[in-house]
Amino acid sequence: MSASPRVDVDGVSVSPDHFINGERVASATTFEDRSPLDWHWRLADVARGGVREADLAVSAALEAFHDWSSLSTYQRGIYLDRLADLIDRDVEKIAHVECLDMAMLEESLRLRVIGRGARNFRAYAALARDYEPRRWDSNGTENTVLRMPAGPTVVITPWNAPFMLSTWKCAPALAAGNTVILKPAEWSPLSCSMLMDLVQEAEFPPGVFNVVQGLGEEVGSALVNDPRVRRISFTGSPETGRIIGEAAARNLVPFTAELGGKGPFIVFADADLEAAAEKGAVMFDDGGQVCLAGTRLIVQRGVRERFIELFEVASERHVLGDSRDVATSVSPLIHPDHLARVSGFVERAKASGDVILFGGEVDRPDGLWYRPTLIEPLSNSSEVVQREIFGPVLTLQAFDDEAEAVALANSTAYGLSAIVYTSSRDRATRLGAALRAGTIWVNCFLVRDLTAPFGGTGISGIGREGGDYALDFYSDLKTLQIKEGTTHG
Ligand code: NAD
Repeated sequence: MSASPRVDVDGVSVSPDHFINGERVASATTFEDRSPLDWHWRLADVARGGVREADLAVSAALEAFHDWSSLSTYQRGIYLDRLADLIDRDVEKIAHVECLDMAMLEESLRLRVIGRGARNFRAYAALARDYEPRRWDSNGTENTVLRMPAGPTVVITPWNAPFMLSTWKCAPALAAGNTVILKPAEWSPLSCSMLMDLVQEAEFPPGVFNVVQGLGEEVGSALVNDPRVRRISFTGSPETGRIIGEAAARNLVPFTAELGGKGPFIVFADADLEAAAEKGAVMFDDGGQVCLAGTRLIVQRGVRERFIELFEVASERHVLGDSRDVATSVSPLIHPDHLARVSGFVERAKASGDVILFGGEVDRPDGLWYRPTLIEPLSNSSEVVQREIFGPVLTLQAFDDEAEAVALANSTAYGLSAIVYTSSRDRATRLGAALRAGTIWVNCFLVRDLTAPFGGTGISGIGREGGDYALDFYSDLKTLQIKEGTTHG
């Protein structure tokens, strides 16, 4: 179908269509995209893809694969660097639309998050270019590890930070020589559509980088079940991760999954308590819709009272409001269904005897804000301790010694991140070894080096992305063995 008219999203022109084989393509049906800042505000009716659009996109990606994968890493890097420059140019516009679409704080999108998208493309262009194959001699042969582009790659992303998280996966896939079909989440589809405008402007060859919009169980499912796809990269909930993992297993396709989190935030008595309390309150930012957040406060008993005092003061400074406003620190939740889910956790906690220390209610009847909430659970098996809530709801538990802190921290099925506050370097090293998590931050949070491995243990994920780990995942590694004495020429 030919393209639909572009939509004016508060002064920014956005296409509601798919981007397949270098062109905008509409669907026979659409889905509504509303703003969490004001649920009456219908931002766009977005193309609702299905089996047909998935087929078109995979066919285009397959067709483009030979030429794209035959380019040198240097040549592919020219496209990626050009795209990065265009993202940098349009940061403000993309940040504005993403703020309207998913309600993440506009200032943080503008100053940090969207620019990370540009850095992802630049960093992976450089890493792929600078790859030095591992070489060694053994058994009378010279061995070399080579990377071979894998093929069409499906990238499926969640509704939180959709632009940054999509580029985090698409950049290494493209740099490695794969062609990509991106399926953004249906609750925040617009910023990824804007990415495709820039892909077009950067003159990527048709079919190299496609986006299909639609619902997970429709077009998402059709994509991950297509046997022509050679890599699947997913970020989202463990429940969906299991479904996609089954499809990947049926087609024997390597699959990486960055899933939910339930990170511990451990505070030792020797820590800078004020700094810990300030950082703890940051877990409420963006309505707590951050997978890496430390949502279980685990505090040494001797400083429990003092920490709660400081934490309450820091939390009271939060302003619940419009995410476009720089004074706002707690944004609304993404969708009425998600608000009901978050609220359901707290109501069940109340009913089961967990103690609400503060918060515990919807902020206003006509909006999607939920008050920052702290719960002291009856036991470690309480649902609010064991399951990801993905809202501004934290739990507080106390421990006596380091062994108990580690046991509590490691007691959920998740293992994405952990945060520790302590002044002891030795303790930091011991906890680094003992905690089961993909990333452990000591006296800091969200500091990221793109070359470090990133992922989760347990139900928080399969595989690692970041740096060479991602480039290896998106490649088929092969070993070249040349017998010693084979001459040049
Ligand atoms: P979700 O699992 O509901 O959806 C994620 C994506 O999967 C969406 O694009 C959706 O359309 C698609 N999908 C759903 N069913 C599908 C199917 N059957 N086949 C193919 N695709 C399908 O997750 P969400 O609610 O969008 O995001 C929130 C979750 O994501 C939380 O659990 C959060 O912790 C997690 N998350 C993890 C990370 C990380 O880096 N580990 C980062 C951000 C979010």
